[in-house]
Amino acid sequence: MPQPPTLKIVEIFPSVQGEGLRQGEPTIFVRLAGCNLRCSFCDTKYAWEGGREIAVAEILRRIQKIRGRFPADWVCLTGGEPLLQDLRSLIRGLKKEGLKIQVETNATVFRPLAVDWLTISPKPKNYAYHPHFRERAKEMKLIVTKGMTFEILKKLRKGFPASRPIILQPESNARWSKTKSLRLVGRSLRSGLKNIRLSVQLHKLYDLP
Ligand code: SF4
Repeated sequence: MPQPPTLKIVEIFPSVQGEGLRQGEPTIFVRLAGCNLRCSFCDTKYAWEGGREIAVAEILRRIQKIRGRFPADWVCLTGGEPLLQDLRSLIRGLKKEGLKIQVETNATVFRPLAVDWLTISPKPKNYAYHPHFRERAKEMKLIVTKGMTFEILKKLRKGFPASRPIILQPESNARWSKTKSLRLVGRSLRSGLKNIRLSVQLHKLYDLP
């Protein structure tokens, strides 16, 4: 008999989306375990290993329970790297409940999934991402690390549709990274690079998970 689908989960929690264009919207987060990268600046290193194998039906039940006191319309599947696992049955279940779904991915692995919002966040050193994301992602989020340069930004802007923003996110909301982000936005403006935007991690300012 086929086993019911399960996923390796680190945590499921209500919060507010603190990053990207959906910033500020109440959202229930499902953090999946495992990542194929090891970024030095990662603020979810606890999601690299471990996690608990949970049946998809149980994940859906927990989301419904959270919605009893926090009736958010959005669920964000994040990680770690969520696309390392097969999300299809979870996505089907969430759709059946009428929920809107965001996936945040480092974009190294592509899976054709019917979600409402795809956020890609290519990572150093090479910032490579699967070409199928190009037309599907609503936004590109870039962490402004010490190694981020204008040349990298220019190359990424050239390869990603100009109508979709590239959002600069200061590393850990640090002052040096905010200053650098501001400089990058200014230089982009003067050089004719379109749709490069500033941001901060809103949830950290509000002390939210
Ligand atoms: S891709 Fe994301 S989750 Fe993975 S190590 Fe880098 S920052 Fe952390």
